[in-house]
Parts: sequence; C-alpha cells; structure tokens
Amino acid sequence: MDKSILKKAYATDDFRKRGHQLVDELADHLEDKLQEKSRKAIQWNEPDTELEFWNDFLQNGNKNTLFSQITQRTTYVHHPKYIGHQVSPTAPITALTGMISALLNNGMAVYEMGMAPSAIERVITDWLCEKIGFEKKSSGFLTSGGTLANLTALLSARKAIIADDIWNEGHSENLGIIVSEEAHYCVDRAAKIMGLGEKGIIKIPATEGFQMNTLLLEEAFQKITDKGIKIFAIVGSAPSTATGIYDNLTEINDFAKKKDLWFHVDGAHGGAAIFSKKHKHTLEGIDKADSVVIDGHKMMMMPTITTALLFKDGKNATATFSQKADYLLTQYDHEDWYNSGKKTFECTKTMMSIHWYAMLKFYGEDIFEAYVTHLYDMGHLFGNIVENDPYFEIATKPVSNIVCFRFVKPTLDIDTANTLNEKIRRILLEDGEYYIVQTKLRGVHYLRCTIMNPFTTEKHLKSLLEKIKNIADGLI
Ligand SMILES: *Cc1c(COP(=O)(O)O)cnc(C)c1O
Repeated sequence: MDKSILKKAYATDDFRKRGHQLVDELADHLEDKLQEKSRKAIQWNEPDTELEFWNDFLQNGNKNTLFSQITQRTTYVHHPKYIGHQVSPTAPITALTGMISALLNNGMAVYEMGMAPSAIERVITDWLCEKIGFEKKSSGFLTSGGTLANLTALLSARKAIIADDIWNEGHSENLGIIVSEEAHYCVDRAAKIMGLGEKGIIKIPATEGFQMNTLLLEEAFQKITDKGIKIFAIVGSAPSTATGIYDNLTEINDFAKKKDLWFHVDGAHGGAAIFSKKHKHTLEGIDKADSVVIDGHKMMMMPTITTALLFKDGKNATATFSQKADYLLTQYDHEDWYNSGKKTFECTKTMMSIHWYAMLKFYGEDIFEAYVTHLYDMGHLFGNIVENDPYFEIATKPVSNIVCFRFVKPTLDIDTANTLNEKIRRILLEDGEYYIVQTKLRGVHYLRCTIMNPFTTEKHLKSLLEKIKNIADGLI
C-alpha cells in the first residue's frame, strides 16, 4: 500500500491552486451565461451519449479539464433563457458557503458537530417563524429538501393528532390525509411511506382555476369518515407545482380547525412570498398553519438542497421522532434546541444554515423581497403577453412565476394539439437556446415556464413565443 497517495489528496498547495482556478472559471461561466455571451441555456445530449462520454473520460480524459467539462455539460440555470424547472440561479455568495460546508464537513446531528451552523440555524428558523407570523412558542429546523420536509411534517401531524403510540406500536386504525389533486407528488409519496395506502390519501378535485375546491371538503370528509378512516391532516399547496396556483389557505385552515386536523402548508416553492409586500396576500392564512415548508433552493436563491420546516408550536418539532438514540442526544428535551438531529429525519446533514445567514448578512431581507416580487411580476407579465396572443392559450392566469400555456390554432383537435406541443418542447430542448419544461393538465399538454432568473426580460419571453410559432409553422 502506498501511503503517499493520502498525502497527495490533502496537499494544500494543490487545493489552493485548483481552488483559485476554479473560482475564476466559475466566475467566467457566470459572466458568460448571465450576459448571454453563450447562445444556449442547455447543451442537450442524449443520456446514452452523455454516459459514453463520462465512461470514456474516466479512462482517457485530462483531469485538468474535469471541472470545466462538468460545468459545460450541464443546464445553465444562470442563463436568462433558462425558464424551466424551479431551482434558483444561485446567488454566487452561497456557492462560497457551499464550499465552506463541504470542506469543514461538520455533520450537524449534534451541537458539537456544528456549533456555529447550529446556532445560526436557530437564528434563521426563528426569523422565518416571525416572518410567517407565528408566535413565540414556534420553532423549526432546516432539512434536506421539500420532499423530506413534507414527510417530516406529516409524521409530526400524526404524532400530534392521533392518540395511539403509533411510533412504537404501529397503527391498526385506518388513517388518512386530505390534499388537493394538484398537490406535489411527494405528499402522496409521504402518505404511502407512512402506510396510509391509496385509500388514506383523499384527493380533493381542484376548481377550474386549479385551486383545491374547498366546497367539496365537508362531503369528502363525511364520506371517508363513514368508511372508518380517521383523517388527521390537511395540506394546502402554496402554490401547487404544475400551475403555480395557491390554495385558499384561510378556507383550508377554517376547515382544519372545525375538524381538529393538522394544517400543513407546502410552501416549498412559494412560501418565500412572505417577503414580498406585493404578493404575500397569496399566503393569507399561513400564520394559522401548524407547519410550513419553504425551500431555500427554489425562490430564495440558494444552492440545492436546503429547506426550512417551521412549526407553530415548537414542541411538535421535538416530538416527531421519540425514539431515543442516547449516545447522540441528552435526555433533557427542553435544553437541547441545539441538537438538530433529534428533530430532523437526517442524522448527518450539510451546514446548510450558513447559506441563509450569508444572504441575510450580505444583502438583508430586501434581497428576498426584490427577488420574489420581480419574478412574480414577470409571471404576471408573461401571462398577459400569452393571453393577448391568438396563437397561444394559457392554462390559467398566473399568480406566481409559473406559467403554463400552449400553441393553438382553431383547426387543431385536442390530440393533434397535444402532439404538436410535445414536439415543440422536444425541438426546443434539442436546440437548446431556451430551456422550458412541460406538463399535462386534465389531459391537455402544456408548455411550462418558471421565470427564475431576475435577468429574464420581456424581450426574452417575446422572442421565445416567436421561436415557438416558427417551430409550429414548420410542423403543421
Ligand atoms: C419542489 C416542490 C416540492 C419538493 O421539494 P424538493 O425540495 O424538490 O424535495 C414539494 N412541494 C412543492 C409544492 C414543490 O414545489
């Protein structure tokens, strides 16, 4: 065994040299994309082509080009023509905090393994609770993604609402939750993981405008209760992922209180609207929720993956996982707010709190107000442009930065139009100038844009529509 290889891996001069070079390369990348020096938002390759490249690179590639190859062969979220999935073009400062977390590698499960980031996490979650409008006894933590946060919240809900000790005894009673049919699929997955089964996920049809139809709640609740299923939670989407439409949180809360249900708000995408004076009305009623999820990597400009899960009553956060792992945790519950592993699904997690703190410290809360307000405004603007163009039809008037629309012509029947829009999106992907996505709503195929980049302008959006018209002309 050659031990010198270990020394080589930790050589600090190599780290310094490659590190400086990488920061330069990434800064160049940012300039290149933000200022559109490169034409494309994505350099599309088929999965098998990409696989072949990386298999070959491991054997034959030059390691000095590794970082630049990775950078090139990705989707450029900082390009103004990236208008696709809901991840932030990261604020560069949080790439630096990402590097700190990766290098220092404090695992966060217990206070001793992340003193600064644990205290910082408390600062951040207390601040978020206050912004939501929660009272003093509220608290929260950061966890790895909206999916995990929603599962954790539903576990907290079950613990709080159901009297039986399900954690230790398992459950024999039939349990259920209520969601909108438009809720993110991870809520469905969470319920399945919890053993509720298909019958335990009560999906309320949405209105024409894609909101949970709260008029149907009472009847659905009665029907399911009569079947012997005990409902313990109701989830509001803020907003739902496909359409960007917010459920009416006030009405859902009223129903939750009437029936003694846990009220959870999935604000993974749009919970950040609490920062926008102009758009926070979309979240009216959020302060009445028992738990709220907000993703940092979606509408808060941070790197994947960091999510806040916030509880109106902090003791529910501590109670979720009552299993004791004594080697990790002290027995005095009230004393150890700082041992994050007691409340999170994860044992080890990244030092994610430092992204949030750096954003606050460098730019203040105003950065989030500016980001959310601008992007939601752009969503409204794009909605208007699409609505006024006879070649396009909008799924519903946007209330956030998510816009679903499709190319239409009066002569096209629904199947032809669906196939046409699917082909348009495929051609856009292969061309790569714009990156947008697609979704199916009630059997209709839509093109879907999420305006995530603050430098995407009206001009970009209009030229995207022109491009789509040209593609469609070529296809019809
Ligand atoms: C993105 C999203 C999720 C999933 O969050 P991840 O951070 O991707 O795990 C859940 N719910 C909604 C409404 C979302 O938009």
